[in-house]
Formats: sequence, structure tokens, C-alpha cells
Amino acid sequence: MAHRITLIPGDGIGPEVAEAARRVVEATGARVEWDVQEAGAPAMEREGTPLPDRVLRSVEASRTALKGPITTPVGAGFRSVNVALRQELDLFAAVRPALSLPGVASRHPEVDLVVIRENTEDLYAGIEFERGSVELERLRRELRALAGFEVRADAGVTVKPISVSGTRRIVRFAFDFARRNGRRSITLGHKANIMRFSDGVFLETGVDEAGSYPDVNLEECQVDALALRLVTEPESLDVLLLPNLYGDIVSDLCAGLVGGLGLTPGANLGWEYAVFEPVHGSAPDIAGKGLANPVAMILSAAMMLAHVGESEATRAIREAVKTVLADGRVRTPDLGGTASTSEMAEAIAGAARSFLVQS
Ligand code: ATP
Repeated sequence: MAHRITLIPGDGIGPEVAEAARRVVEATGARVEWDVQEAGAPAMEREGTPLPDRVLRSVEASRTALKGPITTPVGAGFRSVNVALRQELDLFAAVRPALSLPGVASRHPEVDLVVIRENTEDLYAGIEFERGSVELERLRRELRALAGFEVRADAGVTVKPISVSGTRRIVRFAFDFARRNGRRSITLGHKANIMRFSDGVFLETGVDEAGSYPDVNLEECQVDALALRLVTEPESLDVLLLPNLYGDIVSDLCAGLVGGLGLTPGANLGWEYAVFEPVHGSAPDIAGKGLANPVAMILSAAMMLAHVGESEATRAIREAVKTVLADGRVRTPDLGGTASTSEMAEAIAGAARSFLVQS
């Protein structure tokens, strides 16, 4: 039986990298029946909303999606589609591996990290009060009456909730992930000395849960110190467990460690649904020009195939990416080459076919 997968091409470079990933998946012979769903800018234009209900219904039916990036205009009236999708489907765990690849120039040759980011709470919960609004005025009065807190009259406010229940599930997820993948150590990043009652909950819950997993080491690290360790000795780190905002920032940092945003895949997982997408955004500066590196999206597709049990196709894609990068003749401009998105995809598809013939 074919796997039914929702394909959300997205906008910006999304449609180009989505097409590339689709070609590579098809080259492996994995039986996938795509349900293509437009979202983002093209849906906004045609249907007046960037996330029509049909997209969520499709993922609910297929349970699995491969998604390209979707632009979040800064300061626009609606919330990020990416964040909305994660919250609607309760995709509470983002998994973002950063692995050194052959033939890619980087400062540290042996990076093998996985960022696990909590996806639903923290400053991304969407609890915001606009500067000058009636609601914020009421909140300011309430905070003053409750505890004498003075919020400046010209401030905007975003609330940072971190719960024990929300943290417990991501901590357990991280420990189970470490066990399943033969990883020995989890570094929990926080700033609990400053944000005692939000990051404090994240840290305490992590330490509590660690007692049930004696075979995996848990260390805690303040997120600023973690940033320093990441750029000086990333080889000393294994799995990183982070609340939402730090996870977002550290994911890009880790992408930079292994050669850039064009190379790092990701998964958003919940109990019921899984949406695979690259760490990068829609990169409007290079959209529509055939310049985007499709590897991050292709490796996201490989994670998707692993998730649905297509282990041979997964291995073929991962090996094909390594072969093409090590060979170095076909490279997109972000890696110093001149190949187009589709030339890169074709090379990887060809290498995947050869791998499958030989194995
Ligand atoms: P968002 O806020 O939506 O996550 P961002 O601000 O992180 O987006 P991106 O769109 O991820 O920004 O990309 C930042 C820059 O990195 C792009 O403008 C582009 O130059 C480069 N970039 C990102 N993805 C790719 C890719 N797949 N191939 C080549 N270059 C890329």
C-alpha cells in the first residue's frame, strides 16, 4: 500500500525545494501518494487565508506531511502559519539534527548534534498585548494591584508560559529519542537564574524526569554558556533540549555549524501527527531563481520516509546526499557552486538510484 503524505509546498523557495524532494523520493521507488495542499502566500491570494482548513484536514487524514517554508510577514495582522500548524496539530516536539557532511566547509569537522525544541509554549504561545491597547492598560493595572509591577506605558507585552505538563512530555520525548537513537547525553538549556518561574519549571521538570532514565546523562547549561560551547567545542555536545525560543535560535546556530541553512532538516512531532520541514525559512531573496539548496528539504523527506518505515529509501537518500556533496561537482551557490536547485536534485536522485541498484 502506498503511504498517503500531505505535501505542502509553501511559498518563497518552498515550491522549488518541495519539487526537488518529491523527485528524489520518487527516485527511491518508495510508494508515496502525495496530497498536495497549497498554504501561505498562494492560499492567501486565492482563499483569503494563509492556512485554509483543508490543509489541517488533509494532515489529520494522512497523519504525515512534508512541508516547505511559509513566510511570516513581520508585524502583519495574522500569526505565523508555521506556528499555527504546530499548535493546531499539537506538534510539541521539533527534532533538528545537525550533522557534519562530507565536502562541506565548516569550522568543526565532527559535529553530530540533535536539537530538540519544545514547540507549543514559551514566548511562542501567542499571548500578546499590543502597545497602547485597552487590554494592555487593564493588564498594567492588574499587575500593579497584584504585585506592584510597573510596566512602562509605552511597552508592548508578550507572555512566557512554561508548564510542568508541557515540559514533562518534551523531556520524556527527548529521553526516549536518545534511547532509541543510541545517544548518551542530553544538555538542557535554560536561563532559570533570571526567569525563575518559567525557565525554572523547565529545568526542575527536566531534572525530576531524568530520574526515570538512569542510562542517559542529563546536564543543565545556561543558554548563553551553551552558545559559547556550541561555537568552541560542539563535538562535546550530543542532544540539546530547549524551550521554544532558545530552540529556534540554537537551531540556526547549529545549522551554521554544519554548513548553513540549506543543509539542515527537521521534524515536528506530536502523539498523532508528524510534519517534516527544513529549518530554513522561505528565503525571499533567492525565491524563484533556482538558487535554493534543496538538501535540507530532501533530508527532511528522508526523515519522513524513516518515520513511515521506508528504511531502505531513507538510507538511499542519506547516502546519495553524502555522495553528491563529497563529489563536489554539483553544488548550489550557497555551497560555492553554480548548480541550480533542480540540477542538485537530479544529481541526488541519480545517486539514490545507483545506491539502490548496488545494494
Ligand atoms: P524565518 O524567519 O521564516 O525562519 P529566516 O529569517 O530564518 O526565516 P530564511 O528564510 O531561513 O530566514 O533564510 C535566511 C537566508 O539564508 C536566506 O535569505 C537565504 O539567503 C539563505 N537560505 C535559507 N535557506 C536556503 C536554502 N535552502 N538554500 C540557499 N540559501 C538559503
